[in-house]
Amino acid sequence: MPVIDEVVLREAFGGGTGLVLNSPNTMEYYKTFDATRKAWNWCLHCERAYPQGSYRQVRNLQMCPYQGCDGDVVTDLWAWWKVRGGNPTYPQVPALGVQYSLRES
Ligand SMILES: [Zn+2]
Repeated sequence: MPVIDEVVLREAFGGGTGLVLNSPNTMEYYKTFDATRKAWNWCLHCERAYPQGSYRQVRNLQMCPYQGCDGDVVTDLWAWWKVRGGNPTYPQVPALGVQYSLRES
């Protein structure tokens, strides 16, 4: 997967405090599940995609990196390929900040 400039990511996620970027090794998700680390993730709450290793640390919780989203990156994290599986017209590499609903309307 392409390396995305942290400035670009920070802007896409809305900045703010607790933002952690490019750090898959510290994500609970990857410690808990045997999942590929070279992936795009997708948030069940805001339906936006983010590259692996991005999250927002809020106290002891790892949350969706997008500012204002109440999804977490453990149970609300879906692999992008799964979302794409039901929506074949979605791009292989999702755009930052774009809402991709589970079913295309
Ligand atoms: Zn989210």
